[in-house]
Amino acid sequence: MAHAHSVLNFQSFAARTLSADDIRLVESAVSQFGAPLLMLDCEIIRQQYRALNNALPNVTLHFALKPLPHPVVVRTLLEEGASFDLATSGEVELAAQEGVPAERTIHTHPIKRDADIRDALAYGCSVFVVDNLNELAKFKPYKDEVELLVRLSFRNAEAFADLSKKFGCSPEQALAIIETAQAWNIRIKGLSFHVGSQTIQPQKYVDAIQTCKTVMEEVVARGLPALSTLDIGGGFPVNYTRQVMPIEQFCEPINDALNELPETVQVLAEPGRFIVAQAVMSVASVMGQAEREGQMWYYLDDGIYGSFSGLMFDDAQYPLVTLKQGGDLLPSVLAGPTCDSIDVIAEDIMLPQLENGDLIVGCMMGAYTSATATDFNFFKRAQTIVLNEDAFSEDSMNQERLIG
Ligand SMILES: *Cc1c(COP(=O)(O)O)cnc(C)c1O
Repeated sequence: MAHAHSVLNFQSFAARTLSADDIRLVESAVSQFGAPLLMLDCEIIRQQYRALNNALPNVTLHFALKPLPHPVVVRTLLEEGASFDLATSGEVELAAQEGVPAERTIHTHPIKRDADIRDALAYGCSVFVVDNLNELAKFKPYKDEVELLVRLSFRNAEAFADLSKKFGCSPEQALAIIETAQAWNIRIKGLSFHVGSQTIQPQKYVDAIQTCKTVMEEVVARGLPALSTLDIGGGFPVNYTRQVMPIEQFCEPINDALNELPETVQVLAEPGRFIVAQAVMSVASVMGQAEREGQMWYYLDDGIYGSFSGLMFDDAQYPLVTLKQGGDLLPSVLAGPTCDSIDVIAEDIMLPQLENGDLIVGCMMGAYTSATATDFNFFKRAQTIVLNEDAFSEDSMNQERLIG
């Protein structure tokens, strides 16, 4: 199928308008594959990876698979030279299957079963994360094969997900873990943290980096082996309905804080959302409609239990666009297909009068969307259509592939 422009212009997503080319692309994809769809554009994955890489020039980026564990995303980032952050044996399997060299991976789940450790080691991943002594003890049998990061906790009430409530330890506990590891002959490589997903303020990273620097100095003061690595986690923000700082500006104070660390310290990050959120558009179609209490209710073939699961699990507000434009706007509700009443995507929004079969596009639908979707009520998950899988060039720009 040939398209004039298969690159979805993400600048226009934020403005909640689609170009004529985008509309043509969406309509032809639905006519070929049906709805609901998720349209994954590899070119945006590349652009986002390069943007963050440029904004954090001395940091090795390990893409966290969790927000969008799709083989095409892994393949695209592998070609870009990315490293990877794995957290489960399923993610290890996906990385292995896509030929990711194990030395480009770290395993960052703070709580693991012995089988999880063995699966990662069998693949060749040897860097793991701990945040307590119970977990540290699990590495006694593997002490000659592993290097560990100790995860610190920094609470963040403003983030979409405060990832320091469930995981991470205090600086004092970190020092106790490092001393015990020394006694048990387990190598501690460094420190890690996650300031929270969709963190709006770079100061959160700056504060965490400064605390980690203090811990690193205390490690040396106590005569323990110096730490070689700092992992500053994920959390880098993207534009949903609210504008965030451009990434170069966001990373400036972070780079300044990193420059205060000893030169021997290698820095890693684990971005997830920032790489993938913008790269996916969802397309749902109207299955039916009713007028209820002065509002038009439109029932779509995708909802909260499907691609819009992030409305429940992630706090995200996705920009929504109707392909139909013009005419009178009426107060409307967009609901999902299941028989459950919580399955509502948007209420009290002004939309033109829609026909059954009309299409609704969701923007910024790449992170924590399909990854947390269910098959509730036997509504099948949206199919993913992959755009621009081959690196961008004159010859390859119009290719498109069905993944299923
Ligand atoms: C979820 C997660 C990430 C990715 O976080 P984003 O906010 O999506 O960038 C990175 N590291 C760990 C340990 C995670 O749990």
